[in-house]
Amino acid sequence: MITVSDFPTYRGTMEYVCLGCQARFDIRELYYTCPHCGGVFILEDTSFDSLLEYPASYWQSLFDKRAATRVTALRGVLRFYELMAPVVDEEDIVYLGEGHTPLVAANEALSGIVGAPFYYKNDGQNPSASFKDRGMACAFSYLKHLVRVNDWDSVLTVCASTGDTSAAAALYAAYVGGPIKSVVILPKGKVTPQQLAQPLGSGATVIEVPGVFDDCMKVVEHLADNFRVALLNSKNAWRILGQESYAFEVAQWFGWDTYRKCVFVPIGNAGNVTAIMSGFLKLQKLGVIRSLPRIFGVQSHHADPVYQYYDEADPAKRRFEPVPVTPSVAQAAMIGNPVSFPRVAHYAREYEKIGGPGSFQVVQVTEQAIIEGMLLANRHGHISCTQGGECLAGLLKARELGLVEPSEVSILDATAHHLKFIGFQEMYFENSFPAAYGITPDAKYVNRPRSIMTDADKAALSPEDYTAKASAAIVEALGLARK
Ligand SMILES: *Cc1c(COP(=O)(O)O)cnc(C)c1O
Ligand SMILES: [Zn+2]
Repeated sequence: MITVSDFPTYRGTMEYVCLGCQARFDIRELYYTCPHCGGVFILEDTSFDSLLEYPASYWQSLFDKRAATRVTALRGVLRFYELMAPVVDEEDIVYLGEGHTPLVAANEALSGIVGAPFYYKNDGQNPSASFKDRGMACAFSYLKHLVRVNDWDSVLTVCASTGDTSAAAALYAAYVGGPIKSVVILPKGKVTPQQLAQPLGSGATVIEVPGVFDDCMKVVEHLADNFRVALLNSKNAWRILGQESYAFEVAQWFGWDTYRKCVFVPIGNAGNVTAIMSGFLKLQKLGVIRSLPRIFGVQSHHADPVYQYYDEADPAKRRFEPVPVTPSVAQAAMIGNPVSFPRVAHYAREYEKIGGPGSFQVVQVTEQAIIEGMLLANRHGHISCTQGGECLAGLLKARELGLVEPSEVSILDATAHHLKFIGFQEMYFENSFPAAYGITPDAKYVNRPRSIMTDADKAALSPEDYTAKASAAIVEALGLARK
């Protein structure tokens, strides 16, 4: 009998593991960068194998039962407690309604265009309207735990952001409150007005610096290395753990059947794709899923360092080189030197060991294809952001290259809500993209409001005449027939 009325009793033995020099560090300290070699960390539960004593069916029904639990701490992404942060206590867990985002099947018309069935997983339906909330729920739960056990009286959280990380960090910090204060550092003019409004509204201190995200990240790293601040970028390995919930939820949605599934993810700083691979690997190890879904990272030709790396077929010849970025409508992924690249390389190797060659691949798409991917999706009832459009462009590209068969089912990550990136749609409809984007609107996707009467026309009419004339103009414009 599985009961989920109580908080889990299992506690893991978690350690930071440096992917550069393999050194291990105690989690009671906050680490972001290896003090020995400057490498990035992953978090490992060295007791994980003890979970293998339970059969796959145990985990499947436990996670399914928790999906309907009333225990607040287990309602969100922490319902995968044993696989995520099995060191925090119930009172530490921060829940703002993250996770449980729906998979929405593409309708017949749209899957017909693609030539294969697929779903969007709407991570824009998280509380701050992007997937970043998954990672923040976990990172803040652990931070709250540290604050409680150490009795810290003040913690300053900082992050560099392409917009959504800061929105999520500011939201969770505002909720947890107490000793936690949030500072977000943004590249000036490189986040959307909506993304800037979010941390301001949550009461965070917002600092704008000139340059692109990669410049901003260097400033934040300098601060984290030399001053007493808690870093909330995806260098913070607790965020990666929270983001693994995306993979767990995809598997759960399909009743733990991931056979012949393909998952498309936009790659920016590469934290998300890392987390998704790590998540599926854990499920596979526990036997909860039998086969690893294939993972397709997607990058714009304007910011494609991970694509460039894997474009070299011979692993021995691959060299990672940061690339300069040029303007991208997939602005949240416009990163030339992804912090999590070593994690991608690590998990891609692990993934291919089990899933075989091609179980992790990266495809490159154009800016034109990204924005039109978004417009195409949303014209068929989705709520995709530009990065979600990048995923559809990636699936179309993969179909064109023969990488995905018509019998495979794809899951596309709509990483944020459409409305966060609405300015790009407007630029497309008004043909006002700066040349650097290289985007030319196609009339078939353009949609603009139609005006039927001027304010001056209206002012000259009586209310009755206004109703009659405005209606007549609409009847003519739409060619309406009388009933
Ligand atoms: C952060 C972000 C990305 C990129 O994810 P990484 O983990 O940095 O690769 C993509 N889309 C949206 C909407 C984001 O906020
Ligand atoms: Zn190291």
